[in-house]
Amino acid sequence: MFVREWADKNTYNSFNNWKGLLYSAQYKEIASMRVPVPVQARIDPTLRCPLACKWCNSARYRQQRHELGKDHVIKVLDFLKYWGVKAVVWAGGGEPTYHPQFLELLQKNAEVGLDAAILSNGVIHNPEVAAEIGRLCRWIGVSVDAGSADTYTSTKGCATFDFVIENMKTMVKHSNKCNVGYKFLISPLNQHELVEACVIAKDIGVTDFIARPMDTQHPRRIPPLPLPRRHASLSRSPVPYPGV
Ligand code: SF4
Repeated sequence: MFVREWADKNTYNSFNNWKGLLYSAQYKEIASMRVPVPVQARIDPTLRCPLACKWCNSARYRQQRHELGKDHVIKVLDFLKYWGVKAVVWAGGGEPTYHPQFLELLQKNAEVGLDAAILSNGVIHNPEVAAEIGRLCRWIGVSVDAGSADTYTSTKGCATFDFVIENMKTMVKHSNKCNVGYKFLISPLNQHELVEACVIAKDIGVTDFIARPMDTQHPRRIPPLPLPRRHASLSRSPVPYPGV
């Protein structure tokens, strides 16, 4: 089986087992009891979000709809560059692209010379924002979490599956060096659509497909569904994950 992340021609990628060695300078600082400049900063610019995912871990405080002011974020970006930080990840609770001035903030991110990445749900109403993400970002992970419009709508409370797929196509089309990732959080509600999601991801030409299991032991977890008969022998582990 060909494993792309371990191929000789693809040594430098986010899934390489040895990537931690890139940060040996930071490890040395920590070993010397000094706090190094972070390689990456994360900015959660807004609590706004158009979706209502059943597993949302920020649902409790997203109702407040707080967000950072544009001028403040610009000052932060200038400071991060001055401090020696290399990259910014725009994320949430909340959908970062729903910040009213997100386009300006992303352009400022590029202007000061920091790498940019985004964790997004892909519900981006301005096509220019989707195109600019392709042009300016190093990567974006889009949480699609479904392989069909029906499952998407029933788990996220909003019928925007096709819209998100179109936005991902726009990002791919305008990509400069942007890795566009189709993310799939595996839960009892969508696990039957992994293959369909992979086919769609391949079809629209994204760079990565990222699947990971939901923490079903979390106190706010979705109640487990009965396993299909043919999987009855795969009983769920009664032992919680360590530390949970
Ligand atoms: S997209 Fe993210 S912030 Fe919005 S409802 Fe879903 S999990 Fe919560």
